[in-house]
Amino acid sequence: MPKKKVGAGNLRCKRCGTFRAIIRTYGLQICRRCFREVSEELNFRKYN
Ligand SMILES: [Zn+2]
Repeated sequence: MPKKKVGAGNLRCKRCGTFRAIIRTYGLQICRRCFREVSEELNFRKYN
């Protein structure tokens, strides 16, 4: 898997590989959907 192509607008989820709704908060670079799962794993607050 080539991971050199990393630029604004070409972000890819590191978990599921989607290009949609990518979040780079906390340096995770994952989509909103995966972020929800990860946030649960990391015990982030789900509500708020
Ligand atoms: Zn994802």
